[in-house]
Amino acid sequence: MKTQSTQPPVSNPVAPPILRVQGLCKRFHPGFPPVVQEVSFEVGQGEIFALLGPSGCGKTTTLRLVAGFEQADSGQIWLDGQEISQRPPEERGIGFVFQDYALFPHLSVFENVAFGLRHLRGKARQERVLEVLGLVGLTVFKDRKPGELSGGQQQRVALARAIAPGPKLVLLDEPFSSLDAALRQSTRDEVRSLLKQSGIGAILVTHDQEEALSVADRLAVMRAGQLEQTGTPEEVYHHPRTPFVAQFLGRTNLIPGEARGLEADTPLGRIVLAEEAQGAVLLSLRPEGLSLAAPLGHLGLSGKQLEGTVLAREFKGHDMTYRIQLGTRELTVQESPESPFHPGDRVRVLVHAKAVVVGRGR
Ligand code: ATP
Repeated sequence: MKTQSTQPPVSNPVAPPILRVQGLCKRFHPGFPPVVQEVSFEVGQGEIFALLGPSGCGKTTTLRLVAGFEQADSGQIWLDGQEISQRPPEERGIGFVFQDYALFPHLSVFENVAFGLRHLRGKARQERVLEVLGLVGLTVFKDRKPGELSGGQQQRVALARAIAPGPKLVLLDEPFSSLDAALRQSTRDEVRSLLKQSGIGAILVTHDQEEALSVADRLAVMRAGQLEQTGTPEEVYHHPRTPFVAQFLGRTNLIPGEARGLEADTPLGRIVLAEEAQGAVLLSLRPEGLSLAAPLGHLGLSGKQLEGTVLAREFKGHDMTYRIQLGTRELTVQESPESPFHPGDRVRVLVHAKAVVVGRGR
């Protein structure tokens, strides 16, 4: 089965682009494939753009190429209409927040933020530091050392330091990965609203799909050095173009079928398609697009029903997720938390969402 074209579909920012990246390539070792291959995307003014993908797919390298910490083999980078591909990092007008924050431990919060403002002197410098510390809500901690702050607070100091010089773009490399789950959620919300408040565009690198979906205005799913799909979180989640994107961004059921226009015959019966297709297709059906019901065997209809057996149930508070054996196939089905089935129960599987075509041909 061939998957659909891996050319990234066009997805442009709503606002005029502040950053344009065209055909970026980077190879570290001759004889090995490039780590970044023909990567192109745009980031709009004030837009948060996420680069999402599995470990080692080239996200950080892409970010470092944009920042100027690495030199691209080919490709161009424009910031606010100016080509910056050959400029050193300090002349690019881009802020960077590192995964480990990279704060100076011997300097106070104030001095850390002031560090990037060497072009300002005296009162102007002091005022700018206090303005940015006010923005991130850390004015009261200005005299503390980073070691005397929580992880989330250190994160905000790193963000304050990055935005203090007034960059046109901020790059954030896995900025929430060292925070625990509860702090990650609140810090993520804070960082998002701070970026929106300051109107600075941002690229967020993450391997956490939930983070990308909830923080980004648009995102690109990266695989083996290439952008496989770019779009808004809703577009990419609801209309994945490849099996990889469908599986990486949330969970899904991949089901083969024979399409005839807006319908396809599949092992789950005839199901409705989100778009027209003909012939052999591979379909993605999200677990929340399926549901379970008790079998209708006592009505003499069992032969016509799609009946399966519950293999496992996973209660997650806000939902109940089942694994169902249906013939030779295993399906994932997401139900409401009150759903009553247990392993071993016979159940009917109902399809109530349109399936998305993620591959064509045999
Ligand atoms: P992670 O989520 O694990 O940080 P990533 O998607 O950010 O992964 P990169 O850090 O960009 O991936 O690395 C992509 C590939 O390039 C990896 O195989 C990595 O080993 C390799 N790589 C990165 N930097 C260098 C370097 N300076 N020299 C040689 N190889 C490198």
